[in-house]
Formats: sequence, structure tokens, C-alpha cells
Amino acid sequence: MTSTTGRSADPIPVLYTRHDLANLMASGLRLFEVCGGQSDFRMINMFPYAPHLAFWQTHYGGAAFGALVVSTGGGKVMGTEGNLRFLRKLKPDVLIGMPTFMYHVLHQAAEQGLHWENLRRIVLGGEKVSDGMRLKLRHLAAELGSPNADVLGVYGFTEAKMAWAECPFPRDQAPGGYHLYPDLGVIEIIDPQSGEVVPSGHPGEIVFTPLDARGTVLLRYRTGDFIDGGLTYEPCPHCGRSVPRLVGKISRSAEVKEMRLDKLKGTLVDFNQLEHVLDDVPGVGAWQVELRKRHDDPMEVDELVLHVQKTNGADEEHLVRDLNIRVVEQTEVHPNRVVFHCAEEMRELHGVGRQLKEQKIVDHRPSDSSATAGDSRSEQNEALNGAGATDKLEVAA
Ligand SMILES: [Zn+2]
Repeated sequence: MTSTTGRSADPIPVLYTRHDLANLMASGLRLFEVCGGQSDFRMINMFPYAPHLAFWQTHYGGAAFGALVVSTGGGKVMGTEGNLRFLRKLKPDVLIGMPTFMYHVLHQAAEQGLHWENLRRIVLGGEKVSDGMRLKLRHLAAELGSPNADVLGVYGFTEAKMAWAECPFPRDQAPGGYHLYPDLGVIEIIDPQSGEVVPSGHPGEIVFTPLDARGTVLLRYRTGDFIDGGLTYEPCPHCGRSVPRLVGKISRSAEVKEMRLDKLKGTLVDFNQLEHVLDDVPGVGAWQVELRKRHDDPMEVDELVLHVQKTNGADEEHLVRDLNIRVVEQTEVHPNRVVFHCAEEMRELHGVGRQLKEQKIVDHRPSDSSATAGDSRSEQNEALNGAGATDKLEVAA
């Protein structure tokens, strides 16, 4: 059994029969193949050890693929230091894990002067993969001695009981999207308002129906995830596979939060966009967005605080100006302050080693005024991609 997570809603169990485990191996095998795995690669699975799809998909995929895969259990099981010990010892060709945790581990490895020339792939699941994050991870890999490492994204959600990967692609081109398994499930893209299926290549909400599942089976499961490039049936420009692919950026409706910037009415802020903005700002390493009440007074207005770890040598004044401009452009909300932190403080804020998933957006507003939007958001993402939005369990049509 795996499950969706969330304090605000009861976790929904997703059950696997032996047949489903065979499918989990089949999808895992394909995932490793799409990522260009080789049987002589050494791999480290840094997903948190938990009843979540990401960990088990990687475990079963590795078993089916037949390569050396060491599962560290992520930061909560052995900390960044424990994961680094494995890196030093194993010098893996492939690292698999969540983007923010990956960033912290590689940043610390670079700080410690680790030299490691054979890193070929960084495979990311559990959170969105922004262009900025790809770039940062490539820079860190280069610093470690592996300038050609591919950074690949994986998309999946608890209810699908499988995940789909990008194939390696040239740096100057766009990723080929998530390669689907049409014999194991049907993905549809719908207009979220009408529920109608949109033509291929059109944006919309991702809806999933498994074709060969037992145990827990959901029909036309609405993920609450939106993809801006939709579904394509053209052969992949990079690997030539002819399976359908999900292309473009994925965003989640759960990441739109209400903020009260004056005492009268709420403003809806799309944190999907804010995440992309923050990942893409030059000079910003890791970051955290904090929502709080002014003076911690529940009757007061909401505040948005940006916690930022600078990359080497960035000028603080310039960075604050840049951040203010970009955040206002995308969200129409002015950050109340920007607070700078060192890498260690940032790891502490993110809860590396304490949380299953790093806390990139935290909501410290009292729960009576803001519901539990912040909690549910961060917890949902503990599943492979966070689409375990239990309140969205509904049939599309
Ligand atoms: Zn491809």
C-alpha cells in the first residue's frame, strides 16, 4: 500500500496486488530505459523511504532493470551527510531524488570539494522541475567534475501507481516531455471547466485511467495538474519513441493560495508561477517563501517573506531589487522582506533531514484564517508529484 498524505484530509490508501507490483516493475523498467540507463551504471535512490510512489517506483524499477541501485532513504533516514558518504563511496553514475534535496546534497558536495567525474544523470521526481533548477543542478554537477550530466524530470502521482520520464535531450533544446505507457493507462487532457477532452497539443488538466490495474482502481481520475503543452502523439524528437508524451510545464491548482493583503478582501496568488520565478532568478540558490501574519496577529494582514540563499558573490542590494521586480511582475504581490541565509541555515529552514520533503512554501498564518492551504500543499507533494490532492478525488465525466 502507498498513500496520499495530508493532515487536512485523511490519507487515501492506494493498494497494489501482485499484478500491480508486476506493473510497477514494468513501468519502472521503462522509466529507467527512457532515461537512458545502462546496466553498468551505479545509481543512488535518494527518495524518502516512505509508503510513497516515488521510492517504490524507483526500487522496483531498479530491480527490474538489473542495475546497482542503493536506496538511502533520503534526508530523513541518514541526513545529507549520510547521503554524501554514499556519494563519496559509490561515485554513482545516476542520482535519483527530489529537486530541492538534490540541490542541498550537491551543494554540500561541491562545498566539500568532492571530485566526481562520472555523474551521467540526475533524475528528479516529487516536485516540479523548473528550467532554473535544471540549470543550477547542471552547474553544481559541473563544479563536481561532471559538466555533461543530464537533468531529467519524472512525473507521476500516487493514484496512477506508475510514473513517466523525460529522455535525455540536447541542452539547447526543450525536453521531449513525459513518455507515457499507452498499454498500461490512458491519459486525457480536459478543459477543467467543461470536462471536455481538448485536441492534442492543447493545454488542460491531466486525467488518468489505468488499463491493467487491480487493487485500487480509479477511473478518469482528475489530478488537478495542468499541463501547458498538452498531449502529443508525434514521435519524440530526441529518442524517436512513438509513445504519446505529455509536453510543457505542469502546474497545480492546489498551489493557488488566498492572501489577505488588506483587511477587506483576499487576493488569489498563483505560487506555481512564483516557484518558477524564484528558481530562475540568477544569484538565487535555494529559497523559501513564508506566508505569515504581520506581528503574528491573526487579525492583521498577510505578509510574504522571501528567504534566500545567494549563490557565490551575488550582490544583496541588486538581488533584492531584482527579486522585488520579478515577484511583483508575476504575482502582483510585493514581498514584505527578503532575508538572506547561508546554506546551512537554508537546509534548516527547508527541514532537510527532518521533513520527508523540503518545505519550499510555508504558511505560518494561524489556521483559522487561512484554512490549512499551506499544510496540505506541502504535504501533498510528499507523494511523487503531489497530485495526491485528496479533495479532488472525482470522476471527470
Ligand atoms: Zn524521447
